[in-house]
Amino acid sequence: MIQAANPHHQVLSLRFLTDYTFVVRLERKNLQFQAGQYISVGLSGDMNMREYSIHGSSPLWLEILVRSVEGGHVSNQLKQVQPGDLLRVEGPFGFFTIKADTKPAPLWFIATGTGISPFRAMIEQHDNLDYTLLHGIRYPTERYGHEYFDLKKTITCLSGSQEAALPHQAQLFRGRVSAWLDQNPVPTNANCFLCGSCDMIYDVYDILRGKGITSENIHAEVYF
Ligand SMILES: Cc1cc2nc3c(=O)[nH]c(=O)nc-3n(C[C@H](O)[C@H](O)[C@H](O)COP(=O)(O)OP(=O)(O)OC[C@H]3O[C@@H](n4cnc5c(N)ncnc54)[C@H](O)[C@@H]3O)c2cc1C
Repeated sequence: MIQAANPHHQVLSLRFLTDYTFVVRLERKNLQFQAGQYISVGLSGDMNMREYSIHGSSPLWLEILVRSVEGGHVSNQLKQVQPGDLLRVEGPFGFFTIKADTKPAPLWFIATGTGISPFRAMIEQHDNLDYTLLHGIRYPTERYGHEYFDLKKTITCLSGSQEAALPHQAQLFRGRVSAWLDQNPVPTNANCFLCGSCDMIYDVYDILRGKGITSENIHAEVYF
């Protein structure tokens, strides 16, 4: 559903998770969405807008998880917003959502970096999902929002060289998500949701197809 009325939403807060990644909380203004969808966001008065997955919500607010990209226009503008600033918001858009008939199957959430964002919204909006989260990051500090997930169902794939002190029950793999998938089974009836960089999505798509997962059961959201 495309939102009509006044598209300007006040920033409520900005919360930094690392030096370059942050959560923007903005007024919801009754915007209705399905978990997995994204909104287009820009500073009010600036013509540039970019897409950001909805990361979390309450009746009063929405959150987006943003990584500031070197030289990037909008992500660096968002990094500097203050409570009270106005953002222009359009949407929601997209079809990267859990349909009623996909819920019973095991769900595999496969993300790199901020690609984890829509999965938090999914576990928030749907009760008792049977999921496994595979999250590829370079540094331990990039475990964005892992506290919202069941650690027993979460596998962190760490491709950087830093030591990671993970909470009890957290599962750590040294290497990329594609390497984990090369070395481990995925049920052939899994419904797989891939979110993040185009390179990861291409690699993982091929691996999953090679494991016998049908293309209908592979859903992708490409960020860049
Ligand atoms: C459907 C969709 C959902 C998205 N959801 C999110 C989200 O939840 N969180 C999020 O942080 N981003 C998300 N993105 C990416 C986001 O829309 C912007 O592309 C990103 O914030 C960069 O915008 P910018 O204006 O700062 O950079 P620009 O000025 O547009 O681009 C600068 C350069 O950075 C490259 N670039 C763009 N994005 C990235 C990236 N993530 N990492 C590295 N290089 C990049 C571009 O290719 C370009 O070369 C999403 C993209 C899409 C299409």
